[in-house]
This record gives sequence, structure tokens and C-alpha cells, in this order.
Amino acid sequence: MERMADFQNITGLIFNIMRFSVHDGPGIRTTVFVKGCPLQCAWCHNPESISPQPEMMLRTDICLMCGACIAACPVGAIENTAAGLVTHREKCIACGICAQVCPVEARVRVGREMTVSEVMLEILADRVFYDQSGGGVTFSGGEPTRQPDFLHALLTAARHEGLHTIVDTCGYAPWSVFERIAPLTSRFLFDIKIVDPEKHRRWTGVSNRRILDNLTRLDARGCAISLRLPIIPGVNDSPEDIKGLVELLQRLHHTKRLHLLPFHGGGAEKYHRLGRAFHLEQAVPPDHAAIERIAQDLRNHIEEVHIGG
Ligand code: SF4
Ligand code: SF4
Repeated sequence: MERMADFQNITGLIFNIMRFSVHDGPGIRTTVFVKGCPLQCAWCHNPESISPQPEMMLRTDICLMCGACIAACPVGAIENTAAGLVTHREKCIACGICAQVCPVEARVRVGREMTVSEVMLEILADRVFYDQSGGGVTFSGGEPTRQPDFLHALLTAARHEGLHTIVDTCGYAPWSVFERIAPLTSRFLFDIKIVDPEKHRRWTGVSNRRILDNLTRLDARGCAISLRLPIIPGVNDSPEDIKGLVELLQRLHHTKRLHLLPFHGGGAEKYHRLGRAFHLEQAVPPDHAAIERIAQDLRNHIEEVHIGG
């Protein structure tokens, strides 16, 4: 039998802890964002969540050119050039020392190693709000199942405290991970991106076979699941895409809730700060009428369809 004390010192890499979150499940919640994701969705609005390693986000627009970071960098990754400050990312080891000396937060290290007890301390600070609002804690990412022992330990600790627990997942993990965490999870927020396997691979980098298999198995167990479908114009909103989704819904027996999440283009700036290209920079968010049409169509096949988180 595992004891709570065995879990407290397990560590994981997180990139944010958001208090007073109201979009990641019922009531007031704390959302813990775990770093690292096996998918690389072209529309991802949290690109800093994808790498399982710490990384640097840089803002040249607020840089004072004081030179403090250049002097502090232990590997000489930052250079003052005629075009301004240049950070050679191939040299950077993401130690974060430059962020500590920067007076204006033009440099931020994303990714913080934390123990389960440290994370729980932050979560439990708002316990009174969870109790009053019917909220709890949500583990998101990135992909929380990417760090399975850490997630399992956090869920165990949260359940030990009697908290409502949600796991927000892309579904891409071995079934054994879901089997282990399912008894500790009050509800899954389960993302479906694209039902067509080839298209899924093209836009996310991986096959959706494992994802759909895990969804079907969790559903068959009667786990509480809210499906979440980002609507990306020109990517997954064609009549064929919606037909594929309907066929999937018809194969599920217990899942009653679907959230449509319209693409909003936010996050482009984060790509720039990470030194990466955002390939959907020109994509236009879907209009409300188009989303409402899709929602109406889907309401014939699942009990609840919501627009938004
Ligand atoms: S994170 Fe570390 S290695 Fe990278 S630029 Fe800053 S000081 Fe240099
Ligand atoms: S320490 Fe900050 S403000 Fe100073 S040069 Fe470096 S990035 Fe710019």
C-alpha cells in the first residue's frame, strides 16, 4: 500500500499555476500546467507548453539594452549587435541566470521543477474558494499524462485532501497511464482535434489511433468525460470533419458533453518570444454563426453542446 509520504517528494516540470480559473471545469479552480506535450498542433496557443525542457521567452520590445544579461550569461549566448540584442538559442542552456538580472522581465525562463508537496501548498491556499463554489483542481498542460508518476502523485494528494480533480488531456498516452489515473480523476476534459487519421497526423504530428482508443475505453468504463473540440477554420470544420465527429459520438455510450472552442489566434506573440514560426498567423477566427451551425448539427448526437470552455 502506497503512503502519502511516498508521493510528496516526486518532482515534475510545470510552466504555470493559474489561480481562480473558471474555464477548466466547474466552480473556482486552480489549474496546474504541466510542461511537455507529444502533439504539436499547428494552432497551439500555448507553444511554451510543448517542449519537455525549460526554455527562454524573450521580449525585444521592452529591452533597455542595459547589457546586464550579456555579462551574466555563463555560455556567451547573448550578443550586442548593430541590429540589437541577439540571443543564440543553439548555445543557450536555459539556465535562467539572465532572467534573474534583467530589470524589466524581458527574459523569462519557462519551466519550473516542483515537488508534489510544493504544488499542493499552492493548490490548498484556495481551498475555501473550491468549497464555496464547487471547484477544485485541474491538471492541464502541455499534456499532464506526459509526466505520469508526477500526475498520479498529484492526483493522489489532491484526492487525499478531498478535492474535485480534473485532468485536461489530449489523450495521447499508453492506456496503462489512463487506467492508473482514472480512479483518481473526477472528470476528464478530453480533446478531440480531428477524427480523420491522416489529417490528424498532418496537423498535430501524430496518429489519433491511440487517442480514440483511450477515449473509447474511458467512455466504456463510465468515466465522466467532457469532450473539447477546437474549431480551426479550414482544418477541422468541413462537413466531412463534422460527419466523422458524429460517427465518433455515436460510438460513445456515456459521454454527454461537448465543448466547441473557436480558434482565436491568440498565442502568436508567444511563438515570436520563443523564436519559432506560427504557421496559422493569417488564419481568421470562425464567425459565431458558423460555430452555432456546427453546434446545432451536433446537438442531434450528444446531450450537451457548449460553445466555449
Ligand atoms: S538562459 Fe542562461 S544560457 Fe540562456 S541566454 Fe540566459 S544566461 Fe545565457
Ligand atoms: S538584461 Fe534585460 S533589459 Fe538588459 S539588455 Fe538584457 S534583456 Fe535587455
